[in-house]
Formats: sequence, C-alpha cells, structure tokens
Amino acid sequence: MRPYDFTRPRSVGAALGDAHEGSAFLAGGTTLVDLMKLELMTPSRVVDINRLPLRGITVDRGGLHVGALERMSDVADHQDVRSRYPMISQALELSASPQIRNMASMGGNLLQRTRCGYFRDLTTACNKREPGSGCAALTGHSRMHAVLGTSDACVATHPSDVAVALVALDARVHLESLREKRTVALADFYRLPGHTPQVENELRAGELLTGLTVPPLPWASRSAYLKIRDRRSYEFALASVAVALDLDLDRGTIRDARVAAGGVGTRPWRLEAVERALVGRPAALATYEAAAAPAGEDARTLPHNMFKPALLRRTLVRALVALGGRS
Ligand code: SF4
Repeated sequence: MRPYDFTRPRSVGAALGDAHEGSAFLAGGTTLVDLMKLELMTPSRVVDINRLPLRGITVDRGGLHVGALERMSDVADHQDVRSRYPMISQALELSASPQIRNMASMGGNLLQRTRCGYFRDLTTACNKREPGSGCAALTGHSRMHAVLGTSDACVATHPSDVAVALVALDARVHLESLREKRTVALADFYRLPGHTPQVENELRAGELLTGLTVPPLPWASRSAYLKIRDRRSYEFALASVAVALDLDLDRGTIRDARVAAGGVGTRPWRLEAVERALVGRPAALATYEAAAAPAGEDARTLPHNMFKPALLRRTLVRALVALGGRS
C-alpha cells in the first residue's frame, strides 16, 4: 500500500475542505481498503468521514431518508424499511456476508467499484483500470459479465443489489461539495461505460454522497428482491430482479408495477416496458410471461453469458408469481 495522509474531520464542511484531487473518502472501507492494498486505488489523502453527522433512517411525507453512513445491516433491519420497502431489506441482506453488512455504509455500497476479476488483476488489460488498454473480459471468462448497456470498451456488471431496488423505487441521491448541494435521480447517477468506462457515475471531484431519499410509494409494501447466484451466500448476482406490484385484489388485476434488474446490466436496469405490459392486466401467469418476454431481447451476449437473457426472464416471472399469485 502506498503512503497517504489521513484526516478525521467532524463536519461535512471540514471533510469537503480536506478533500482534494487524488483524495478518497473512507466510510466502512470494505471496498476502498481492498483496492488500496492492491494499489488499484492510490489516494494521496484518506478522509475518514465516520464522525460526520450523516446517519439516520427516517420516514415522513417525503418518503424514506437514509444517511450515507448508515450501515447496510441497520437499514435492512429497520422496521419501517422492512414493512414499507421489503425489497430494500431483502436486497441488502442478499448482498454480502453479515460481517460486511455490519461494516459497509449505504453510500459506499452505491459507490462500490466493479467486481470484474480482470479489473483487480493487474496483469490483464482493463479499460476501467487503465483507459485504452483493452478489455480482457471480451475474450476471457465472461459468465458474470453484463449483457445490457455494454460497449466495446467494457462489459462489467454493476455490483450493487440495493441499487437495483432503489432504481425501481425512483430513489434520489444527495450530493454535496464546497460549491453546492444537489440531488440526482439514482437512475441517472450511474453512467453507461461507452468509451469511458473509468467514469462510472456523476460524482464530481471532491463531492460527497451524503444520503438518499426514496419517494413514498404505499404499495411498495408488496415488493420483493429475487437474486439468482452460483452459491447461496457472499456471491454476486447472475441475474436479479426488484419488483413491486400494486394489485386490485377485487378485480384480480395489476394497477401499477415497478421492475428493475441486476446482474445483467452495466448499471441497475429499469425494465419500463415490462412495467407497462403488466399495468391493467390480470395478475396471472400468462400476464407475467407475456410481460417478461421482451426483457433482455436487446442483450449483447458473450460466449459464457448467453444464458443471461433467458435467466432474467425466468427470474422475473418467478418474482411476479411470488408477489401476485398465479391467477
Ligand atoms: Fe475492465 Fe470492464 Fe473489461 Fe472488466 S469488463 S476487464 S472492468 S474494461
């Protein structure tokens, strides 16, 4: 690990003042410290933000508000999150081991770097690590890689589970710099790789993610996160879906729906066409299968991940059956 300065401010203003080009904010450290050990990230200064007043999980008329320093396990366990937005709790609990969930912050989860193995292997080409060097995944082992939103420069999946649920729920993230405070829809926060896969999101130099807000959605109490992976714990998604259904139980129809996918896209992937195909239709298996049919049809697959579009559709139907019933 390279030498670095270390500061531990007590206010957001002081933390922003301590930050400079080449510095990094430290929260739970579950990504940053790993990458510093590998010398993949070499900040000249580490600004420990754990003393900042960026905690709190509250629900009011504006929705659910979560401070960036809240730990994943605390958010997952929170009674209001579990009852009002179960897909958030489920996505968090399926994300990582309990030890990591106890350490990792919500802000850090949303900003975590890719889990593409080539990114962390300094002996291979990776445009995200070293722009212009190439992408070893295109000709290498691609089972875990994306099939939606990819480019010739990068095919890495976005690793966050909870970001998938948050995109389905139209969550917004709050960002602060010395110059301004701004709020960005999480769906717009993440960038497609294009020709610049090293630029993963809209966060500007020296800017701090201070929290997130999920707008009110009363029917999100009927929601679920379903994650398909190679083993039952501590593994990233091959495909996942976050689904919420607003059911008219008297008529047996779907009034509204939210659907997003993970494990298949270079960023959390909202499936708006699927949502439209569900609304107004009977809550029945035939509806779910018809709605899921176009999901992933524009996928660009690689030799080892050709199964992903079909897996996405099956995962989606399974989640819809679990929430809405078969007929
Ligand atoms: Fe690097 Fe992206 Fe290619 Fe992985 S998929 S090797 S992160 S450029």
